[in-house]
Amino acid sequence: MTIRVLVNGAKGRMGSEAVKAVEADPELTLAGAADQGDDLPRAIAQAQAQVVVDFTTPQAAFPNAQAIVLAGARPVIGTTGFSEAEIARLEAMTAERGLGGVIAPNFAIGAVLMMRFAAEAARHLPHVEIIEIHHDHKADAPSGTAVKTAQLISQARGRAPAPKVNETELNPGARGTKDTGVPIHSVRLPGHVAHQMVVFGGTGESLTLRHDTIHRECFMPGVVLACKKVMTLDRLVYGLERLLF
Ligand code: NAP
Repeated sequence: MTIRVLVNGAKGRMGSEAVKAVEADPELTLAGAADQGDDLPRAIAQAQAQVVVDFTTPQAAFPNAQAIVLAGARPVIGTTGFSEAEIARLEAMTAERGLGGVIAPNFAIGAVLMMRFAAEAARHLPHVEIIEIHHDHKADAPSGTAVKTAQLISQARGRAPAPKVNETELNPGARGTKDTGVPIHSVRLPGHVAHQMVVFGGTGESLTLRHDTIHRECFMPGVVLACKKVMTLDRLVYGLERLLF
């Protein structure tokens, strides 16, 4: 028996990759594809979908997730922009029904590993800064992945090391954004996709962790994994790391 998957946002950049990934996996069946203007509950019923992958827009993601759960299917959501309250509501809705669900703001397995390794390294090498590089169509900075990495580093290392000198930024922002205590430097350039370096400095040594997203395909092993693991869950989980570790 294969798992019946419907992809919502199927005509988009991520959704069209998800369609190909589901079709290519022998344990999954592409039961349906929906996009802007389609009646999602009806599409789920017609497809008899057990899992719905959603890559749409931040505005549509929460209503879509509610519709998926109310239709009795399991959401696997990559669309970004959920508030904590919305995630809590979806956790409650899925737990009431005993339905699995996954929301992952980053489905790239390598990016999740980079964050985990960065947190581990920060326990031993607390001097650390982040450089993230994205294509020049990305409007927001810093990236969500960089912020999440900085938060994990902060939690893992505790107090930030005291600076050796009193720094003066001759141009504001020259030392990056430091909301979490870990400076983040954002680069936006054509010719790049999505890249992050976490640079540690120690006594006479340095360590750099680097993750490169070369193509949107990189998110698909995580999406396929989530489509399978979600069948074994009895409530919604947030973050691909919850399925990996
Ligand atoms: P995109 O190319 O614009 O695709 C979105 C698709 O969803 C479009 O076909 C759009 O149709 C459709 N759509 C919009 N509203 C809809 C609705 N209410 N119901 C059904 N379909 C709807 O965007 P994308 O690059 O694929 O990105 C989609 C989302 O994934 C974004 O939130 C992005 O940040 C996120 N993302 C997540 C990951 C991850 O690893 N989790 C990775 C990359 C991107 P129209 O064009 O007609 O509006």
